[in-house]
Amino acid sequence: MMQNLLQTPIEYLKGVGPNRAELLKKELNIATYRDLVNFFPNRYIDKTGFYKISQLQRNSSEVQIVGKIVHIKMVEQKRGKRLVADFVDDTGRMELVWFRGHKWIRENLKLNTPYVIFGKTNWYNGMFSMPHPEMELVADYKKNLRTAMQPVYPSTEMLVKKGITNRVIMKLMQELFQQTGLKFIESLNNELINELKLIPKSEALFNMHFPKSQELLARAQFRLKFEELFFIQLQLLRRNMLHKQKIKGFNFDMVGDHFNNFYQEHLPFDLTGAQKKVIKEIRSDMGSGAQMNRLLQGDVGSGKTIVALMSMFIALDNDFQACLMAPTEILSIQHYNGLNELCQDLDVNIRLLTGSTKTSERKEIHEELENGQIDILIGTHALLEDKVKFKNLGLAIIDEQHRFGVAQRSKLWKKNEIPPHILVMTATPIPRTLAMSLYGDLDISVIDELPPGRKPVKTVHRFDSNRLKVFRFIKEEIQKGRQVYIVYPLIQESEKMDYKDLMDGYESIAREFPDFQISIVHGQMKPGDKDYEMDRFVRGETQIMVATTVIEVGVNVPNASVMIIESAERFGLSQLHQLRGRVGRGAEQSYCILMTGHKLSADSKTRLETMTSTNDGFEIAEVDLKLRGPGDLMGTQQSGVLNLKIADIVKDNSILKSARYYASKILKEDPNLSMEKNLMIKNAYSRLVKNKTIWNYIS
Ligand code: ADP
Ligand code: MG
Repeated sequence: MMQNLLQTPIEYLKGVGPNRAELLKKELNIATYRDLVNFFPNRYIDKTGFYKISQLQRNSSEVQIVGKIVHIKMVEQKRGKRLVADFVDDTGRMELVWFRGHKWIRENLKLNTPYVIFGKTNWYNGMFSMPHPEMELVADYKKNLRTAMQPVYPSTEMLVKKGITNRVIMKLMQELFQQTGLKFIESLNNELINELKLIPKSEALFNMHFPKSQELLARAQFRLKFEELFFIQLQLLRRNMLHKQKIKGFNFDMVGDHFNNFYQEHLPFDLTGAQKKVIKEIRSDMGSGAQMNRLLQGDVGSGKTIVALMSMFIALDNDFQACLMAPTEILSIQHYNGLNELCQDLDVNIRLLTGSTKTSERKEIHEELENGQIDILIGTHALLEDKVKFKNLGLAIIDEQHRFGVAQRSKLWKKNEIPPHILVMTATPIPRTLAMSLYGDLDISVIDELPPGRKPVKTVHRFDSNRLKVFRFIKEEIQKGRQVYIVYPLIQESEKMDYKDLMDGYESIAREFPDFQISIVHGQMKPGDKDYEMDRFVRGETQIMVATTVIEVGVNVPNASVMIIESAERFGLSQLHQLRGRVGRGAEQSYCILMTGHKLSADSKTRLETMTSTNDGFEIAEVDLKLRGPGDLMGTQQSGVLNLKIADIVKDNSILKSARYYASKILKEDPNLSMEKNLMIKNAYSRLVKNKTIWNYIS
């Protein structure tokens, strides 16, 4: 019954009609009663108090006063007419002023009748005045559905132009609640309501629009935020559960020669505790009979590669193939070289396939993949081409996942009847709770420990005016045998200027260091030239690498110990952190120098201070999230976290955690929500799914 009422097109609400309905739909996406109920205010104006005219201050904000109009007159001005009313209470006199709508006001205002007025006051000609006040007869004021905290709803220019002001929206809201007798079905169970001391759904929705007090408003907001996050988490967790039940995966129950032999004989270093823990998690996933879908997070340099390799060994031990996909050619080649080195004494056939693999070799790879001669295939997007067919792909690893879309992830699936296990590796640290909401359908592993003996990179901030000292430092480091990166920003809009900056920088470096060899890499070079230059630096033939951010991801030159970032104020935090991760990979002390001009915004200062004070990627990610909001965080655009109606994934983090906790607790006890006590939740959940209200959250 109530459900049907909520579906009613907004057109039928008194005071709307077809024209306004169209506007509401177009400007605010409000098409039904339900949409209007869920259209929440941005903020509230506190109308809990009344002012006397004698109490007004010259800089008081919006105030509410009770008084009477004793006189009205039209005042002619050079720039037009204005209507002025004398308004009095028992403490003084002020003026109300209108610049428009005079006719209507003159005809409707009542003299010598008590009004409640509300608005901003000005001090003008020795007297207080209030332009275009909101007014209501005290008699009506007492009668109407009323709220001390006046809601301020989001609006658009078009709406205001067409006369749908905040007042009109408030009026519609009143109509909706008062005339239709709207009540809402409870969507949470008693256990939750009692344990979290939540107010009932109906009361919460009512208080969002007509808050009776600050306290009730806060409780209403809490209740609705919790509910919103709770059902998203419920859905994510259920999907994850169903996924495990339904999507069969290869059961890798063997841990055999490849894995054991490597572990016992060829491991180049002791694994860190975190690496061991993660390998265990992956092993147990792949031996569970369900498809693994795991996200592996680990800061730059935390040692994800060896985890990837050992996971691939498990696939090989079960007579399956594995692949590793990287976002760029350079990275693929590095992985290829790195893994070959680790496997040099082992009988493992590893091949590389990228966009620039020659046709003849490509053919050979296609064949050997299909007949099973190749064990591990490494490459770029080229792996996704239809022609690339595995004999039996058991594990697909994707490095630096934010460069691959979800669609591409699933493309790998289609290569088998039973999908391969999927391991997604990323060095972009995402705070765990955010990751939970973004990738709720993935399980998450974290490498939260760096290999031993790593010296933390020393980071300093230097102004451009100190450049000579920085040059001297570069010289000293190179004379000790180290290599240096100098990175310039490259942002699309100003590409030309950036390019000039880069070339100017290159020339001045070349002048400053005539005895050193310099590589240069930027986006406008041909891929072949880029690789050539990069390669010279990797092999140590050049001492300085001048580059744009193309080197951001994954490049591994342990001998490079200095990272200089030019115009550092123009980089985002996560980018700065990624860049810094290029050094500190060897045994030597490494340095990161952030160069800027003197003019810095507050946010830039925060970013620089964060970088110089910590090396912890997760801590940096938290600051980043606070500065930018989740919308800008890599990979979050498609995920739709921004579609949240009331909760804010950053600010309401603790509510998110609690929502997740309770959702998982309930599902553990009652996976299908079939218990009597969870009926409310089940019904609400099916309604949300039916109305596609929560599917939107997840791509
Ligand atoms: P990332 O997580 O950034 O991909 P890598 O896998 O490239 O990190 O590892 C970074 C460096 O640390 C490599 O040179 C690697 O050989 C080394 N490394 C990884 N794990 C360990 C370990 N447990 N002990 C010592 N060195 C390690
Ligand atoms: Mg890596």
